Amino acid sequence: MSSRRFARVAAVGATLSLTTATVAYAAGPGSAGIGDPYYPTYGNGGYDVSHYALDITYVPAGTTIKGKATITATATQDLTSFNLDLLLSASAVTVNGKTASFRKSDPHELVVTPASVIRKGATMTITVAYSGQPRGISYGGVPSPWIGSGTEALALGEPEIAAWWYPSNDHPRDKATYDMTFRVPTGLEAIGNGTLVSKTTSGTTDVWKWSMPQPMATYLAFMAIGQYSVAKGTSGGRPYLVAIAQKAGAGMAAAAKADLMKTPSIINWEASQFGPYPFDTVGGVVPSMSFGYALETQSRPVYTPDFWAGGSNLFVVVHENAHQWFGDAVSVHNWKDIWLNEGFATFAEYLYAEHAGVATTNELLAQNYQQYAATDTWFWGVRLTDPGKHNEFDGAVYDRGAMTLAALRNRLGAPTVSKILKTWVANRKGGDGTVVQFEALAAQISGQDLSGFFQHWLVDRTKPAKTAENGLTGLPTVATRSAIAAADQITANARMLASRQHR
Ligand SMILES: [Zn+2]
Repeated sequence: MSSRRFARVAAVGATLSLTTATVAYAAGPGSAGIGDPYYPTYGNGGYDVSHYALDITYVPAGTTIKGKATITATATQDLTSFNLDLLLSASAVTVNGKTASFRKSDPHELVVTPASVIRKGATMTITVAYSGQPRGISYGGVPSPWIGSGTEALALGEPEIAAWWYPSNDHPRDKATYDMTFRVPTGLEAIGNGTLVSKTTSGTTDVWKWSMPQPMATYLAFMAIGQYSVAKGTSGGRPYLVAIAQKAGAGMAAAAKADLMKTPSIINWEASQFGPYPFDTVGGVVPSMSFGYALETQSRPVYTPDFWAGGSNLFVVVHENAHQWFGDAVSVHNWKDIWLNEGFATFAEYLYAEHAGVATTNELLAQNYQQYAATDTWFWGVRLTDPGKHNEFDGAVYDRGAMTLAALRNRLGAPTVSKILKTWVANRKGGDGTVVQFEALAAQISGQDLSGFFQHWLVDRTKPAKTAENGLTGLPTVATRSAIAAADQITANARMLASRQHR
């Protein structure tokens, strides 16, 4: 027995050294996708980006971008070539200061061949000069996510936007820090993420420089060009910057501004729920254009003005800023993990309703459990662990996603769920996570077998039974007027947020 075992170990050793030799000497191209099952060409393989320095001139005539991107990355294999995701046209590429050849293998895939092989572990600096008109470009059945034209325009979208305005490794798995310079005709504002480093004027051009020193997913970078009133300062101990379009409907603009100015205090409350705020600055942007949704662009969400058509709407501010923890600090590993973003941000609205004294999370859970009948297969038929390509923003991901966490809180108790959420963020901020990893953490912290719970709430395509296992016993049976109103507002927000899904 023992000699045979030794023989096997020796054989395994031989195989290992052969494998090592293969990896060390066979350089090859990086893959054209990062491995997301929904979107095979999104992201790329073979390198990891640490920093993007974007220098973008925006020309309102023709809604045109002229850009230069300087990308710092580390090779994760010996690379003969690698891809960047870019739908605009590249005109020159360098790698480590040397001219690199490039071609499009597909409208979305810029294949870069450096002058010499980049060794695994080496840092490389890539520059790409490029230009184009993002508004007219559709890809893979996806119409351009770009919003607006001329003097009011927005680079904003999820999952698609980065490839329409800068070259990148376009997937939340590869996050990086950013410096962004936006050059616009004098008098226009150009708002981005993070801290406003400087705003200077050079001839007929205003130059806006923004800095995001914490890792950011590619889709969370944004550029808002237009005529904005910018309010900035410090509130509740935090620097803020709020930009409201001057043309935004007067009533909506006033209500939006009043709510967005409460962002610092909402962030402070959310920090008490989820752990320290992950970024340096807070705020929000409201363009004049209706585009039907809001997006949790890092440190500074962008909202369609329609959220304030009926007056104050703090729930949507709570939602987008909860994403700063769930989505931005901790990103999805694959797009199918979207419940970790939308279910959690909607659950934050439940927690805020309880904090504000308008409804408990159990009242909201009970109200929605009653509202969605077992026969509503459009709602219960969505598998939250795998909602489907281009179905990430189904309303069920929001509403049923939030109900799942409310039911978990009813089953495990508020302190345990609070500990789970804070630990999730503390362990993974700056990186990403999967639904499976979240389920494992919840089981570990609670010391309970939650496999049945998550199976019934996230996987099964039927309404969960009213059992203790499912966290559905002991709920209030009569809903108060204010609980019904809060549930309606949260659902209305979810409907509008879900409308980003135009396809
Ligand atoms: Zn959301």
